[in-house]
Amino acid sequence: MYATTYHRPASLAEASALLANADEAKILAGGMTLLPTMKNRLAAPSDLVDVGRLAELAGVSLAGDTLTIGAATKHYEVAGSATVKGAIPALAKLAGGIGDPQVRHMGTIGGSISNNDPAADYPAGLVGLGATVTTSKRTLAAEDFFAGLFSTVLDAGEIVTKVSFPVPAKAAYAKFPNPASRYAMAGVMVVKARDGSVRVAVTGAGGNGVFRWHAAEAALAASFSAAALDGLSVDAGDLMSDIHGSSEYRANLVKVMTQRAVAAAG
Ligand SMILES: Cc1cc2nc3c(=O)[nH]c(=O)nc-3n(C[C@H](O)[C@H](O)[C@H](O)COP(=O)(O)OP(=O)(O)OC[C@H]3O[C@@H](n4cnc5c(N)ncnc54)[C@H](O)[C@@H]3O)c2cc1C
Repeated sequence: MYATTYHRPASLAEASALLANADEAKILAGGMTLLPTMKNRLAAPSDLVDVGRLAELAGVSLAGDTLTIGAATKHYEVAGSATVKGAIPALAKLAGGIGDPQVRHMGTIGGSISNNDPAADYPAGLVGLGATVTTSKRTLAAEDFFAGLFSTVLDAGEIVTKVSFPVPAKAAYAKFPNPASRYAMAGVMVVKARDGSVRVAVTGAGGNGVFRWHAAEAALAASFSAAALDGLSVDAGDLMSDIHGSSEYRANLVKVMTQRAVAAAG
């Protein structure tokens, strides 16, 4: 690991100033991705700005029909939160299925979505639920936040502060985990919103990261049942193919996970 200077700011404003004034600073949250990258000498930030303990990025709250989760909230907190379980149990389940206990006790929702690993679970959760991402500069729809593999629209020094989710009528997340890492080979969030619209968001499979399966959304809007998907298939040409599975295998997984999520959502 190359030498770096560690900072623990006391406020969001101090964090932003540190990021603006350093040569090549990186935001540090749970460190589950960034620290291994640095240890492997694939990243060499001059400064690390630790946002993990900022009060402005902490906490889970429910106001009306909106569930808000601070960016520094760890996966185990989301998984165990009575507020999340009561409002959007599918989101608690998603968080509880991330990695292993060590990863869940360090990794954060803000770090996960900022990293935007194509096999990470939260991108499907955010896009499926129609979430809103708030940063130190602006507020964005989740679909406008993710920008392809390991890529987001975040500017340098821009800090994700919270994610807000509209409480749906029903939702479920089904994931086929890679047996080694637990990352998604295919993970699907199926959501029926309170206005009756349906969203199906897929992670782990898309050649360009998280995507919505619009044909499944239309079929489920007409009839919210696993059988409504029987005649549909995902185009394998748009999916990832790697040592873990071919694109054809993933296409089948996406359909099966979608059907399981619909059945679980009831
Ligand atoms: C063994 C292992 C298994 C895993 N399995 C899964 C899995 O099954 N599913 C899954 O979804 N994930 C999985 N992960 C990823 C993990 O859940 C973390 O979410 C992820 O590593 C990033 O979160 P972090 O808080 O550790 O971020 P960090 O590693 O600290 O940061 C990651 C990136 O995000 C940036 N960043 C962090 N916070 C912010 C912020 N608030 N605003 C802007 N930028 C920010 C950092 O600068 C860095 O570029 C796994 C990780 C490991 C090591």
